[in-house]
This record gives sequence, C-alpha cells and structure tokens, in this order.
Amino acid sequence: MPKPIIDYSKCSTCKTCVEVCPMEVFAVEEVDGREKVVVKKPDECIGCRACEVQCPEQAIKVED
Ligand code: SF4
Ligand code: SF4
Repeated sequence: MPKPIIDYSKCSTCKTCVEVCPMEVFAVEEVDGREKVVVKKPDECIGCRACEVQCPEQAIKVED
C-alpha cells in the first residue's frame, strides 16, 4: 500500500498537499499552538503522487 511520508525538516506548512490530494489523506492539526500538516488517513492513499510532485519543498516521498 502506498503512503506519503512528510520530512518535517523541509515542510513549510504551505498546505498544498492538503489541497491537491484527491483522497484527503492530509489534514491540518494544531500542535503546541502551531499548525502542522499531518498524514491523517494513510490508508486512503492511492499512490497518485500529486502531493510528492506538487510539494514546493520536496518534503513528501510516497512509499510503495
Ligand atoms: S505541500 Fe509540502 S511543504 Fe506544503 S504542507 Fe505539504 S508537505 Fe509541507
Ligand atoms: S499520493 Fe495521491 S492519494 Fe496519496 S497522499 Fe499523495 S496526493 Fe494523496
């Protein structure tokens, strides 16, 4: 099953992945008073790689 992994050392919380994922795999959560983009529903991922391709920070890798 494919699933996206976010490298938080690169993520800028731009939310592009939240917008482009057709399966709503990502979500924005508040952690310690700050917004954080999380992989909320990894099991929903269909491996389309839209997130990986469109992340402006190259912070996402989709694992097979
Ligand atoms: S698209 Fe990339 S940089 Fe933007 S929130 Fe998602 S993982 Fe972070
Ligand atoms: S590969 Fe496609 S379905 Fe999976 S998280 Fe990325 S955008 Fe969503």
